Amino acid sequence: MMDGSFVLPGDEVGSLEEFVPGDYTYARGGMIFATTAGLVKVDPKTRSASVIPKTNPPVKLIQGDIVVGEVIDLKDSLVIVSLAFKKGHEDRPISDEEATIHISNVRNSYVKDLRSLFSLRDILKAKIVDERQMRLSTGDEDLGVIKAYCNRCLTGLMKKDGKLVCPNCGNNETRKMSSAYGLGEV
Ligand code: ZN
Repeated sequence: MMDGSFVLPGDEVGSLEEFVPGDYTYARGGMIFATTAGLVKVDPKTRSASVIPKTNPPVKLIQGDIVVGEVIDLKDSLVIVSLAFKKGHEDRPISDEEATIHISNVRNSYVKDLRSLFSLRDILKAKIVDERQMRLSTGDEDLGVIKAYCNRCLTGLMKKDGKLVCPNCGNNETRKMSSAYGLGEV
Protein backbone atom coordinates (compact mmCIF):
# COMPACT_ATOMS: atom_id res chain seq x y z
CA MET A 1 0.00 0.00 0.00
CA MET A 2 1.16 3.50 -0.81
CA ASP A 3 1.35 6.24 1.76
CA GLY A 4 -1.97 8.09 1.64
CA SER A 5 -3.99 5.21 0.16
CA PHE A 6 -7.55 4.83 1.34
CA VAL A 7 -8.24 1.57 3.17
CA LEU A 8 -11.25 -0.11 4.71
CA PRO A 9 -11.23 -2.29 7.86
CA GLY A 10 -9.46 -5.57 7.02
CA ASP A 11 -7.57 -4.16 4.04
CA GLU A 12 -3.89 -4.89 3.75
CA VAL A 13 -1.70 -2.01 4.81
CA GLY A 14 1.74 -3.63 4.34
CA SER A 15 3.90 -6.54 5.35
CA LEU A 16 5.80 -7.11 8.57
CA GLU A 17 8.97 -7.40 6.50
CA GLU A 18 8.63 -3.77 5.49
CA PHE A 19 6.78 -2.19 8.39
CA VAL A 20 5.96 -2.20 12.08
CA PRO A 21 2.20 -2.17 12.81
CA GLY A 22 1.12 1.30 13.93
CA ASP A 23 -2.15 2.86 15.10
CA TYR A 24 -5.42 1.32 13.87
CA THR A 25 -3.71 -1.77 12.46
CA TYR A 26 -3.13 -5.39 13.45
CA ALA A 27 -0.70 -8.00 12.23
CA ARG A 28 -1.58 -11.49 11.08
CA GLY A 29 0.30 -14.03 8.99
CA GLY A 30 3.14 -11.63 8.28
CA MET A 31 0.82 -8.91 7.03
CA ILE A 32 -0.53 -5.71 8.55
CA PHE A 33 -4.23 -4.91 8.21
CA ALA A 34 -6.38 -1.86 8.88
CA THR A 35 -8.85 -1.93 11.80
CA THR A 36 -10.69 1.16 10.58
CA ALA A 37 -11.46 3.06 7.40
CA GLY A 38 -8.89 5.74 6.73
CA LEU A 39 -5.70 6.78 5.05
CA VAL A 40 -2.44 4.82 5.25
CA LYS A 41 0.35 6.73 6.93
CA VAL A 42 3.90 5.42 6.77
CA ASP A 43 6.47 6.90 9.11
CA PRO A 44 9.85 6.57 7.38
CA LYS A 45 11.77 7.00 10.64
CA THR A 46 10.10 4.28 12.68
CA ARG A 47 9.05 2.23 9.62
CA SER A 48 5.59 2.04 11.13
CA ALA A 49 2.46 1.75 9.02
CA SER A 50 -0.63 3.31 10.57
CA VAL A 51 -4.12 4.22 9.48
CA ILE A 52 -5.47 7.69 10.12
CA PRO A 53 -9.21 7.20 10.73
CA LYS A 54 -11.47 9.02 8.34
CA THR A 55 -14.38 10.20 10.39
CA ASN A 56 -17.26 12.21 9.07
CA PRO A 57 -17.27 15.80 10.25
CA PRO A 58 -19.84 16.56 12.95
CA VAL A 59 -23.18 17.88 11.79
CA LYS A 60 -24.25 21.21 13.21
CA LEU A 61 -27.62 21.40 14.94
CA ILE A 62 -29.94 24.30 14.26
CA GLN A 63 -33.44 25.36 15.22
CA GLY A 64 -36.10 23.20 13.57
CA ASP A 65 -33.87 20.13 13.25
CA ILE A 66 -35.34 16.80 14.32
CA VAL A 67 -33.07 14.81 16.64
CA VAL A 68 -33.19 11.44 18.33
CA GLY A 69 -31.82 10.83 21.80
CA GLU A 70 -32.13 8.95 25.06
CA VAL A 71 -33.55 10.20 28.36
CA ILE A 72 -30.66 10.13 30.83
CA ASP A 73 -32.14 12.17 33.67
CA LEU A 74 -35.47 13.57 34.83
CA LYS A 75 -35.92 16.59 37.04
CA ASP A 76 -39.15 18.25 38.24
CA SER A 77 -39.47 20.46 35.19
CA LEU A 78 -36.74 19.20 32.88
CA VAL A 79 -35.94 16.11 30.82
CA ILE A 80 -32.23 15.64 30.13
CA VAL A 81 -31.55 13.99 26.78
CA SER A 82 -28.35 12.49 25.44
CA LEU A 83 -28.49 13.15 21.70
CA ALA A 84 -27.71 10.31 19.28
CA PHE A 85 -28.20 11.77 15.82
CA LYS A 86 -29.96 14.28 13.65
CA LYS A 87 -32.66 12.92 11.38
CA GLY A 88 -31.27 12.40 7.88
CA HIS A 89 -27.67 12.42 9.16
CA GLU A 90 -27.64 9.18 11.11
CA ASP A 91 -24.06 8.39 10.07
CA ARG A 92 -22.52 11.59 11.36
CA PRO A 93 -21.58 12.63 14.87
CA ILE A 94 -23.35 15.72 16.22
CA SER A 95 -21.85 18.91 17.56
CA ASP A 96 -23.83 18.92 20.81
CA GLU A 97 -24.32 15.91 22.99
CA GLU A 98 -26.87 16.98 25.56
CA ALA A 99 -30.17 18.77 25.34
CA THR A 100 -33.15 19.45 27.57
CA ILE A 101 -36.91 19.50 27.25
CA HIS A 102 -38.63 21.93 29.57
CA ILE A 103 -42.00 20.83 30.96
CA SER A 104 -43.68 23.63 28.96
CA ASN A 105 -42.36 22.13 25.69
CA VAL A 106 -43.50 18.55 26.24
CA ARG A 107 -46.91 18.83 24.62
CA ASN A 108 -49.39 21.45 23.56
CA SER A 109 -51.42 21.14 26.76
CA TYR A 110 -50.55 21.54 30.44
CA VAL A 111 -48.29 18.93 31.97
CA LYS A 112 -48.53 18.33 35.71
CA ASP A 113 -46.04 15.54 36.22
CA LEU A 114 -43.12 15.00 33.87
CA ARG A 115 -42.45 11.55 35.31
CA SER A 116 -45.81 10.32 34.02
CA LEU A 117 -44.72 11.12 30.45
CA PHE A 118 -41.04 10.16 30.35
CA SER A 119 -38.81 7.61 31.96
CA LEU A 120 -35.10 6.88 32.02
CA ARG A 121 -33.84 5.02 28.92
CA ASP A 122 -36.72 6.23 26.74
CA ILE A 123 -35.68 6.88 23.16
CA LEU A 124 -37.35 10.00 21.87
CA LYS A 125 -37.65 12.16 18.83
CA ALA A 126 -37.75 15.92 19.32
CA LYS A 127 -37.43 19.23 17.53
CA ILE A 128 -34.81 21.83 18.40
CA VAL A 129 -36.54 25.04 19.51
CA ASP A 130 -33.47 26.82 20.87
CA GLU A 131 -30.14 25.89 19.31
CA ARG A 132 -28.03 28.00 21.68
CA GLN A 133 -29.31 26.42 24.88
CA MET A 134 -30.13 23.13 23.12
CA ARG A 135 -33.75 23.11 24.18
CA LEU A 136 -36.08 20.61 22.55
CA SER A 137 -39.82 20.27 22.06
CA THR A 138 -41.96 17.15 21.75
CA GLY A 139 -45.20 19.07 21.23
CA ASP A 140 -46.04 17.86 17.71
CA GLU A 141 -47.92 14.61 17.25
CA ASP A 142 -45.03 12.82 15.53
CA LEU A 143 -42.64 13.83 18.32
CA GLY A 144 -42.10 12.18 21.67
CA VAL A 145 -41.08 8.74 22.85
CA ILE A 146 -40.48 6.23 20.02
CA LYS A 147 -39.25 3.38 22.23
CA ALA A 148 -39.69 2.76 25.96
CA TYR A 149 -38.82 0.02 28.41
CA CYS A 150 -40.85 -1.41 31.27
CA ASN A 151 -39.92 0.16 34.59
CA ARG A 152 -40.36 -3.19 36.33
CA CYS A 153 -38.59 -5.65 34.02
CA LEU A 154 -36.93 -3.54 31.27
CA THR A 155 -38.80 -5.31 28.46
CA GLY A 156 -39.65 -3.11 25.46
CA LEU A 157 -43.19 -1.74 25.87
CA MET A 158 -45.79 -2.38 23.17
CA LYS A 159 -48.40 0.13 22.04
CA LYS A 160 -51.88 -1.25 22.52
CA ASP A 161 -55.08 0.79 22.11
CA GLY A 162 -53.09 3.99 22.54
CA LYS A 163 -51.46 2.77 25.76
CA LEU A 164 -48.17 1.12 26.56
CA VAL A 165 -48.20 -2.40 27.89
CA CYS A 166 -45.33 -4.68 28.91
CA PRO A 167 -45.65 -7.98 26.99
CA ASN A 168 -43.63 -9.71 29.72
CA CYS A 169 -45.12 -8.63 33.07
CA GLY A 170 -48.31 -6.85 31.99
CA ASN A 171 -47.29 -3.52 33.51
CA ASN A 172 -49.14 -0.48 32.07
CA GLU A 173 -47.24 2.73 31.57
CA THR A 174 -47.83 6.17 30.11
CA ARG A 175 -45.59 8.32 27.92
CA LYS A 176 -45.76 11.36 25.69
CA MET A 177 -45.68 9.02 22.71
CA SER A 178 -44.74 9.89 19.17
CA SER A 179 -47.21 8.75 16.50
CA ALA A 180 -44.21 6.71 15.24
CA TYR A 181 -43.92 4.73 18.48
CA GLY A 182 -42.86 1.15 17.87
CA LEU A 183 -42.69 1.53 14.10
CA GLY A 184 -38.90 1.32 14.13
CA GLU A 185 -38.54 4.46 12.08
CA VAL A 186 -37.65 8.05 12.73
ZN1 ZN B 1 -42.51 -5.59 32.46
